[in-house]
Amino acid sequence: MIVSVPSATLRTLDLPQVTLRRPVQAEGTGVHTGHACRVTIEPAGPDAGIVFGDADGSFRLSASRWIAAARCTMVGDGRLCVQTVEHLLAALSGLMIDNVRIMVDGPEVPILDGSAQPWVDRILEAGTVELDAPAVAYVIREPVAVECGEARAAAAPHAALALSVTTEYQHPMLGKQTYTAELTRDAFIRDLAPARTFALAEEVEHVLARGLARGADLSNTLLVYADHYSDALRVDDECLKHKVLDVLGDLCVLGRRLHATITVHKPGHAVNAQLVQRLAGLGCDPLI
Ligand SMILES: [Zn+2]
Repeated sequence: MIVSVPSATLRTLDLPQVTLRRPVQAEGTGVHTGHACRVTIEPAGPDAGIVFGDADGSFRLSASRWIAAARCTMVGDGRLCVQTVEHLLAALSGLMIDNVRIMVDGPEVPILDGSAQPWVDRILEAGTVELDAPAVAYVIREPVAVECGEARAAAAPHAALALSVTTEYQHPMLGKQTYTAELTRDAFIRDLAPARTFALAEEVEHVLARGLARGADLSNTLLVYADHYSDALRVDDECLKHKVLDVLGDLCVLGRRLHATITVHKPGHAVNAQLVQRLAGLGCDPLI
């Protein structure tokens, strides 16, 4: 008899689970739909995970809730669908928050200023509380890798979450850039949270012609021209760091804290999604 051993496991950490002290709310435009949207993030108890809901029901975030979408991350359960969740999820992940209910009114999470900063500001202002239950991490035991066109993503065993992300553009302002760091709360707040959504100026017409980015404007998107940006950068390599922010938000769809070294070359939501599906299929349900 062949016994297959799961190549991932859940590890109980020497840290408590964390939730919000009180609800936080934000409203604004959805960058893709252009619709007005409101989100309220509410505290949740131990082992609740990250739950999306509206007046009619809810679902717990997991890899099986990922819905393929162009240029954003969408999750849903067949009834309730929420677009552009990645910056909010990155904020929760970067601030090491395990349990919340995200109540949505509208089809999309509002883009706000295009970064995770407005979520971080609201969450830090509300405060967090430690719950009477240990945090749990999803830990892989062997390396995995996926490819999607020219994009590649891999995960290797590691005792915390480390990210190495390389972007490569045939563009004089961007070129090839790499960010490598172990994820800590402080590094997230300082380096990644402020990094805004960006678009290459030459691509903007094409994106709008496809009916995408109906809510995009210079208040939520940094435009990259051949020799300048539309605004002063908030952090060095802001475009690269925004891509790291997106990777972090997308990894959060797994539904658990993840301990692994993640390496992504030419990141995008499609390859990030494939990596999350591969990680979720290692024989250990991340949500047990
Ligand atoms: Zn983004």
